[in-house]
Amino acid sequence: MQPAMSTALPVLRPDLVGPQAPPAPDHARQAGHLLDSHGRRIQDVRLSLTDRCNFRCVYCMEPGDRFLPKMELLDLNEYIRLVDVLRALGIRTIRLTGGEPTLYPQLDQLIDAIGRRDFDDLAMTTNGSLLDLDQLESWRRNGLRRLTFSLDTLREKRMASITRSRTSVADVIHAINLAKVAGYPRPKVNAVIIRGINDDEVADFAQFARDEDLDVRFIEFMPLDSNRAWNRSHVVDADEMIAAIQQRFPLQPETEITPHSTSMNWTFADGAPGRIGMIAPVSRPFCGACNRLRITAEGRVRPCLFSHDEWDIRTLLRNNSSDADVAAAIVDMAWTKQAGHGIGKADFSQPARTMSAIGG
Ligand code: SAM
Ligand code: SF4
Repeated sequence: MQPAMSTALPVLRPDLVGPQAPPAPDHARQAGHLLDSHGRRIQDVRLSLTDRCNFRCVYCMEPGDRFLPKMELLDLNEYIRLVDVLRALGIRTIRLTGGEPTLYPQLDQLIDAIGRRDFDDLAMTTNGSLLDLDQLESWRRNGLRRLTFSLDTLREKRMASITRSRTSVADVIHAINLAKVAGYPRPKVNAVIIRGINDDEVADFAQFARDEDLDVRFIEFMPLDSNRAWNRSHVVDADEMIAAIQQRFPLQPETEITPHSTSMNWTFADGAPGRIGMIAPVSRPFCGACNRLRITAEGRVRPCLFSHDEWDIRTLLRNNSSDADVAAAIVDMAWTKQAGHGIGKADFSQPARTMSAIGG
């Protein structure tokens, strides 16, 4: 499907309209793909399937957080239509996330539908608490190509206090092993490292990567936590994490650079299996190479994790707008992508939404 670009958006019922982006210039509207005003081409989408989660990770969600009413959330047909419009606008890769995406009741159908379309990649990030082998195998057959698991500690007691859930470290490691059995390529493990909470486990995670042949990616703590307790002193910089690993296992940087990759990667100098990645948005922002848009579970398009502006696409999906109108609105939204997140600048302010409500 190749929607013809129209420059005029339809007239909408005012009571249903969320914030709309200002019009992008004609050359962006006529490009047929997504561009922002800083010359970046957008080809990757993080699609949030829910704002709900069965964990309450201390750096993400608070126990008393409220969730959106179900009627506010996009339904399966709306997701599929959006995916078709995004495909026609040149989006090549999709990551399913949330909240916890495995709580989305029609996940099987959505994976099947996206898998039938010719995207270059379909991946999912999960806390690994709700997976079984049958599901993993069927998702893989239906087009899910890669899985990333979140695991922030290898110590059981700490797992309970970080996630505020009953899922154990052993449960998540079991799920990672099921993913291998189901034939997924080397799973990734995301570990958010926070000073005073789990910064003493960095080298243990490197050992884990070697022992289990995993791609462990350390993430700097970002100001997207629900209790707004983030401050710079909690952040363990990538350089400090690399130094902690090098003391136990010498590393060598990977020379092959993947364009738009959010992580800097290393292998073990002694040739052991496994890989180390650093996602360092705070100490080494990678905004210049960002090619991403995020779509929340209630259909708001966020050009950046740290955007204060977000744009409403759900209204267009629900008011009989044509695919061409939906596409034109997304072109306008992408154009507003900010140059960078601005963490560390004097005028930085944390966005109202948390990581789980955006789709991390
Ligand atoms: N629930 C799934 C999970 O945890 O994998 C997917 C959603 S979660 C919001 C996506 C990723 O965001 C996880 O790897 C999580 O660790 C990370 N994350 C959440 N809050 C964060 C924060 N304040 N700083 C850095 N990473 C964060
Ligand atoms: Fe849930 Fe993922 Fe946030 Fe943890 S990081 S509370 S698992 S959404």
